[in-house]
Amino acid sequence: MCRHLGYLGPAVPIAALLHDPPHSLERQSYAPGDMRGGGTVNVDGYGVGWYPAPGGPAVRYRRAGTLWSDENLAQLSRVVVSGAVLAAVRSATVGMPVVETACAPFTDGRWLFSHNGRITGWPGSVVDVAAALPTAALLTLDAPTDSALLWALVRSRLDAGAAPGAALADVVSEVAAAAPGSRLNLLLTDGTVLAGTTWTHSLWVRAGDGAVTLASEPLDPGPGWRELPDGHVVVADVSSVDVKRIGRG
Ligand code: GLN
Repeated sequence: MCRHLGYLGPAVPIAALLHDPPHSLERQSYAPGDMRGGGTVNVDGYGVGWYPAPGGPAVRYRRAGTLWSDENLAQLSRVVVSGAVLAAVRSATVGMPVVETACAPFTDGRWLFSHNGRITGWPGSVVDVAAALPTAALLTLDAPTDSALLWALVRSRLDAGAAPGAALADVVSEVAAAAPGSRLNLLLTDGTVLAGTTWTHSLWVRAGDGAVTLASEPLDPGPGWRELPDGHVVVADVSSVDVKRIGRG
């Protein structure tokens, strides 16, 4: 299963999340600690999104391949500085294409989104769920993958005015009902709020000193990391972390 993380707080070089910590996202790509959903490494792509100007749109960089072999990103990540970051490394689910457009984060305006997991019985199990989307949303999916469909489902809720946590929880409930056994750890930010779900995979939080990090695995052995319970939605900003159970619809 993929690994992802989100950060809100004082501006930092994105290397402080991608490359520098002892258990950075780069390290999690070749030596993840918790691949309970299958797979052994996360080598099918990677991506990172950030905000060059607070309040402005997100910028997203993503590639198919391995994070550790991207010398260009290793240099850029030392000078790209942001107070809000969402990043992921990908282990493609069997049968799904290994292409750049299948890599998280998915983005639209200020939104950045990532999915760690898979939809059971893809795609047949969620044909009815997908059919409720506007045709234009289906025709403009980034890639023919479960993660891209989940992003379209979340975006439709956001467009209708749902709050980030409610949008994620609603999509998890709907997809889990249609495709039981799915793994649906989602992560979403607009640069000011960070929302995530735990649905049969790990997610950890560290909050304090005006910063909050959500990550599939702790980035370092330091204090302050807390594993979130399964089946929950978390909504965090730099001063609060709110964790609620998702109704198993
Ligand atoms: N199912 C998604 C994909 O193939 C996410 C994979 C994962 O979490 N390992 O892209």
